[in-house]
Amino acid sequence: MPSIGHLMIGLGGGRYPAVATHNRWRLMAALALLAICPDGDLLTLPLGVEANTLYGHRGLSHSMVVGVLLAVGFGRWARRWKVNQWQATWAALLALGSHGVLDCMNVGSKGVALFWPISSRFFEVSWHPIPAVITVEDLFRPVGLPVLLAEAVIFSPFLLYAIVGWPRFRRRVSPTVLASPDTTLRSPAGSDPRPPAA
Ligand SMILES: [Zn+2]
Repeated sequence: MPSIGHLMIGLGGGRYPAVATHNRWRLMAALALLAICPDGDLLTLPLGVEANTLYGHRGLSHSMVVGVLLAVGFGRWARRWKVNQWQATWAALLALGSHGVLDCMNVGSKGVALFWPISSRFFEVSWHPIPAVITVEDLFRPVGLPVLLAEAVIFSPFLLYAIVGWPRFRRRVSPTVLASPDTTLRSPAGSDPRPPAA
């Protein structure tokens, strides 16, 4: 999974907490970075560390236990943007918790150390709907383009939510109600709009 999906989920998660507009973009950018943080373990590949080992790619950095700890820390750190700590923590949990699970659903996934240190087992799922490239270099070759596009399409709802949020439906007001005189609004303050009794 070339991380586009993780980025989009992070951006979408940043839209959820109630926060001032000028801080929303900071929060969204921080959560997008947080969502791809586990893939920092790709830097171990040039060092000769094998992927799908505890210290390699999809090892302990992809653990949900590590993700929960990071999310709690992020929630506290995000208070600088006057955002509700718990909402920021939930958004970070979405960004980090979904990472390992989605990596399990990659085409060709060999599993993820989802529950380290509780278990060092690499967990797999039998359903792999998310396209993937075989090597990192493939991302920069023509073969990587359809994979990038497919992933962008699959996760586009998160990006859409990040940009526009939930649609707000206005209550439709009947034209006849709009056209009818509003006696309450037109009557002087304190006066009774009802006609006098005969
Ligand atoms: Zn990953």
